[in-house]
Amino acid sequence: MEKTLKEILNLNRKYTNYGQVASYIPELKNAKRDDLGICIIDKDNNIYKAGNCDTKFTIQSISKPIVLAMALMDNDWSYVFSKVGMEPSGDPFNSIMKLETNDSKKPSNPMINAGAIVTTSLIKGASVEEKEERMLKFFRKLANNDTLDINYEVYKSEKTTGDRNRAMAYLLKNDGFVQGNVEEILDLYFKQCSIEVDVVDLARIGINLAMYGVNIENNERLLSERVSRMVKTFMITCGMYDSSGEFAIKVGIPAKSGVGGGIMASVPNSMGIGVYGPALDKKGNSIAGVKVLEELSHRYKLNIF
Ligand code: GLN
Repeated sequence: MEKTLKEILNLNRKYTNYGQVASYIPELKNAKRDDLGICIIDKDNNIYKAGNCDTKFTIQSISKPIVLAMALMDNDWSYVFSKVGMEPSGDPFNSIMKLETNDSKKPSNPMINAGAIVTTSLIKGASVEEKEERMLKFFRKLANNDTLDINYEVYKSEKTTGDRNRAMAYLLKNDGFVQGNVEEILDLYFKQCSIEVDVVDLARIGINLAMYGVNIENNERLLSERVSRMVKTFMITCGMYDSSGEFAIKVGIPAKSGVGGGIMASVPNSMGIGVYGPALDKKGNSIAGVKVLEELSHRYKLNIF
């Protein structure tokens, strides 16, 4: 398997020359555009790696399905979905437009920034510190890695430049989709995006979702089967933003990308996959990462349809 993974990386390495490393969060532009790595964890807990597997990068939007799972465990589902929708937006991840034009003004889904700010606001905790602690603990459990932590440079970088998200969050408060202190909600959102991971962490999160919420290493249930199904369904319909349709056709695996260059994919009942390649297409997805997943899906017939 590792030999095949190396081969797939080598075949697709040329795509690291296309696109751009994200720079709208200034700290992200320090990534090396020719890095490319993959890790697969299968349901027998075999771990296969190739390329830049130890490179750390921030999780960014891959935090969205995880925080969605928390919001669904912390609240009544009907309450969650009264604040955030279930439909693909077809718009860029940071679009503000539908907060005005949607009939209800509700954010379309929890995989775009507006919807993710809502799910972050639904995390329970007596104080901001407790919410942050619970969040980090859940990420560590899902990645099976107690050392996961926030990259404070990236966090500060986004906090000082994240005015588009700030604008969205205030609009969401004005329209009743978030309650409480907007700056505190944004702070938690920027922190969740700044959690540092590698492809092994992403593959572990992917396999935990693939096995319907049960950690195959110790049999611990991390989330319910139904929540894990909902999260994967959002990943397939909205996880690659306004490329989700094309990705479903070409790759056919529930996946979530982040502007840090990572993609986490989860093949139900079979495997978790983490890929990393920081140069992104215009929609914010890793160009080489998507190509690698496409090739992998064809070779191993991973398309869930
Ligand atoms: N932190 C980023 C933002 O809010 C996450 C976006 C992404 O990964 N697509 O803009």
